[in-house]
Amino acid sequence: AAEGELEALQHAEVARLLPVPAAESDKYRRGVVGIAAGSARYPGAAVLAVSGALRGGAGAVRYVGPAGDTVLARFPETLVSDAGPAKAGRVQAWVTGPGAGEDAATVAEVLASDVPVLLDADGLRLAERDTVRGRTAPTLMTPHAGEAAALLGVAREEVQGARLAAVRELAAAYRATVLLKGSTTLVADSAGGPVRVNPTGTSWLATAGSGDVLSGLAGSLLAAGLSALDAGSAGAYLHGLAGRFAAHGAPTGAHDIAAHIPQAWQDVC
Ligand code: AMP
Ligand code: MG
Repeated sequence: AAEGELEALQHAEVARLLPVPAAESDKYRRGVVGIAAGSARYPGAAVLAVSGALRGGAGAVRYVGPAGDTVLARFPETLVSDAGPAKAGRVQAWVTGPGAGEDAATVAEVLASDVPVLLDADGLRLAERDTVRGRTAPTLMTPHAGEAAALLGVAREEVQGARLAAVRELAAAYRATVLLKGSTTLVADSAGGPVRVNPTGTSWLATAGSGDVLSGLAGSLLAAGLSALDAGSAGAYLHGLAGRFAAHGAPTGAHDIAAHIPQAWQDVC
């Protein structure tokens, strides 16, 4: 890549992005993040997204979907709603898609909102491109290489062979900020500025549910008021560090990556 096209994320820069509640703050001012994810078949994706969101700096996490009881059993502080996203109560950002299965209606309802949306996993496949392009609030899409390839209509190898071009092309096509996951995660917005590169990843992150934790974490940062580019970058940075702390040289599971987000946060600040 030519000089100026890429921007490596650094500790000090991420530290400046992380939200610290003011002395007079309250949970609503810190931001409420909504998680519309999970299904009867994949309730764990909802639990992992909520776990990431609770450690991401928002003042409250609201959950909408069929996995409410499972989520509450693990995280009693979650605000579980019986209504769909449009009637669940105010949130400052939504996360949708992890474990969503075929629930296109929920994804569409979330995309119709006027707040920032993080779109991941099944949600990437279920979302209409024109709907995403027409949104008035920012959208942050977080595909891995296989999901990016499906969106672009090319083979996974083609994305892996030209990741910078792929992330830019997706951002332009969807008029969204795109975080392309992988051994080096790239974050691009549709304005065509420098693409951010996350250096903190570790291959121990390649484990089931890892991306669901990232979606909640970055969604929480969106709810706290960060731009899609900053929320994605800071989220990927913390997620990578959390993976290093969780693993320190040995395999571990996604729930443990989430449990180490606070340590990553302390390390950055
Ligand atoms: P997902 O595939 O949605 O579960 O997301 C996997 C997560 O693990 C993403 O945050 C990836 O960036 C990260 N990841 C996967 N493979 C690697 C790797 N080889 N090195 C570093 N991070 C990885
Ligand atoms: Mg995933």
